[in-house]
Amino acid sequence: MRSENLKDILAGSGSIVFFGGAGVSTESGIPDFRSEDGIYRTRTRYGYPPETILSHSFLENKPDVFFDFYRNTMIYRYAKPNAAHFALADLERQGRLKTVITQNIDGLHQMAGSTNVLELHGSVHRNHCLNCSRTYGLDFILQTGGIPRCESCGGIVRPDVVLYGEQLDMDVFARAAETVQKADVLIVGGTSLSVYPASGLVGYYSGRKLVLINKSATPYDEEADLLIHGSIGEVLKAAV
Ligand code: NAD
Repeated sequence: MRSENLKDILAGSGSIVFFGGAGVSTESGIPDFRSEDGIYRTRTRYGYPPETILSHSFLENKPDVFFDFYRNTMIYRYAKPNAAHFALADLERQGRLKTVITQNIDGLHQMAGSTNVLELHGSVHRNHCLNCSRTYGLDFILQTGGIPRCESCGGIVRPDVVLYGEQLDMDVFARAAETVQKADVLIVGGTSLSVYPASGLVGYYSGRKLVLINKSATPYDEEADLLIHGSIGEVLKAAV
């Protein structure tokens, strides 16, 4: 059985790294971008496609629409970690999983108990004033309406998430690349591997076993030593 294969691979390694994306959180009720019922397939009532709204230039030019979309579509205040998040946190506690690298911005890995998490695209939980850099938590964004304004200086408070047209934090990316390079087993899951440069991380891997767990096909399927097309929560729960 495929989950037994994964079980064997995990049992035989003390240096596992996980690299995931939005598919890790769909079982927590947070839609991904590219699945059938993902955010990109839903027609927005805003008159712009989601990838346009979630861009640097859109935040600059139409901040009112940006924040309306952002609050309604990107924040799931009551979402809880699912079986995938908990299984990965368990593996870390057992000392076998070294790092979770995520493209997600929802903070659910940390909520499940993972401590070594590299967030390539930032987090909805961190926000800062574009003018004076004062920092704010998620509650501030939720409690304010319209364009959130800094209580100190009136500047726009924006989320520390990487928007289209913005660069990744190169320090975080370099640490992620080094982590992948050193991994014995790399589990990639819940990501379409279509968002560059994050998807390029897989290219740094030269370890023993590349495990790919995703509901749909990805450009890296042929490179996987173990390919599982299934639910990441079920697969990881069964294997850990
Ligand atoms: P994506 O939407 O491009 O791909 C998600 C992939 O996960 C799909 O291939 C889908 O088949 C698969 N998937 C969905 N549910 C699954 C499940 N239960 N088990 C296994 N596979 C499943 O997402 P991406 O590759 O992460 O890239 C898109 C960007 O979306 C990222 O930059 C991320 O920042 C952002 N995003 C994040 C969240 C979040 O934080 N939860 C939500 C939506 C989008």
